[in-house]
Amino acid sequence: MKVGPSAWRQNVSSQLKKDNTNKMAEKKKIAIIGGGIAGLTFACSLKSKEYEIHIFEKKEQFGEIGAAISVFPNALCVMDELGLLNTILESSGQFKTIYLKTDKGTILSKSEPKSDYPVICIHRADLHSILLNNIDAKLYNNYGLKDLTQLDNGQLSLTFENDKVKVFDAVIGADGIHSAVRKHIINDGEPIFRGYNIWRGVVKTNFDIGSASETFGKGQRVGIVPIKDGVYGWWATCNEAYMQDDKPETTKEKLNRLFGDWHYPIADLINNTEHILKNSLIDRKPQKGWTKGNVTLIGDAAHPTTPNLGQGGCTAIEGAYLLAKCIDKYGLTEKAYNRYEELHFDRAKQINQESLRLGKIGQLSNPLAIFLRNLLFYITPSRISVKLLSKYFNRRVTKLKI
Ligand SMILES: Cc1cc2nc3c(=O)[nH]c(=O)nc-3n(C[C@H](O)[C@H](O)[C@H](O)COP(=O)(O)OP(=O)(O)OC[C@H]3O[C@@H](n4cnc5c(N)ncnc54)[C@H](O)[C@@H]3O)c2cc1C
Repeated sequence: MKVGPSAWRQNVSSQLKKDNTNKMAEKKKIAIIGGGIAGLTFACSLKSKEYEIHIFEKKEQFGEIGAAISVFPNALCVMDELGLLNTILESSGQFKTIYLKTDKGTILSKSEPKSDYPVICIHRADLHSILLNNIDAKLYNNYGLKDLTQLDNGQLSLTFENDKVKVFDAVIGADGIHSAVRKHIINDGEPIFRGYNIWRGVVKTNFDIGSASETFGKGQRVGIVPIKDGVYGWWATCNEAYMQDDKPETTKEKLNRLFGDWHYPIADLINNTEHILKNSLIDRKPQKGWTKGNVTLIGDAAHPTTPNLGQGGCTAIEGAYLLAKCIDKYGLTEKAYNRYEELHFDRAKQINQESLRLGKIGQLSNPLAIFLRNLLFYITPSRISVKLLSKYFNRRVTKLKI
């Protein structure tokens, strides 16, 4: 062993070198709150190796509910970029034709969307597990975020409902429309109820309708989307009070009363569905300012929308991808968060507003207004409706300059 001042200097300098190397190797820690589509897409999209990702989910298990989700070309281009397109296409159904109909089955319009990617419908659980299988992150279930505090050194201390406390360099709020992280940043209260409820289900049938449809009644609608091999997703809406209970009827009795005499195969789909989900349709007014320090929002936590355009999840995928690319390029900096919001806010706002408008049109209950709506659908050439829709699904976030 060397002794004396020069040996001492050598030891100190080699210790300093070691410390610096450790610091360089130490990765910054990002916490994603919420293991839904947005959180997982962000984790899949972040390519920089400078970060360690931890995903916290309040549910007992990472997973999705038993319902269908339509995924449009604007989100499929992201899945293509992530190398997941083929796996997704294998598990999904494509809808080449979309019909708008009256409750008696009269066709009001028929459109055939054309794009470089198809329009597909997939079981939510399948989309979720494809994303989950493609991330490199530490996963924590039963970790509902309770509290978030910024420390003096700029780091963030997270307290969970199980009383565990963890510290991170950045926090991404991907915790949905009732986001706890949003409260820390925007705090705009409860979401807004839009006056109607929705029932949803997925059902295996022995028929092939070969198309998607939306059927309009009086303050009521039904949508049908093909998933795969005779499996269909359906949804039905009705103007009623927030979280209205179906009792004293059973849900199926009520749905049969409301939709039992609508055109084929609506009653068959409802009656053969094992699990029916019910939600009240809510959103929020678009609000700028998604970031505070190193805490930012993605997906429904940032820009929730009603589902009338089928774009909430697709926009969540777009935004999660954009934030990841901004962080890849600019690091965990104000510039990254600002650029993300700059690229995505107007888009998300437009979808929120258009979806709300379509919901109002779809839920009309005044007979004259219904007549005029149906007439408008009937006389509008399909190329015009496709053009209107393509405005939403032709965006390619993968081609944007970050
Ligand atoms: C009826 C209906 C139909 C729809 N249909 C479509 C469609 O066809 N196409 C489409 O693109 N979009 C559709 N959407 C919208 C789409 O479902 C959402 O936009 C999408 O799920 C948003 O994903 P997210 O990850 O941001 O939020 P979520 O899917 O809500 O995921 C949030 C996750 O965070 C977890 N979480 C919540 N709070 C906490 C907490 N405090 N701590 C830790 N974890 C927490 C939740 O458990 C959940 O797993 C529909 C929505 C509804 C209501």
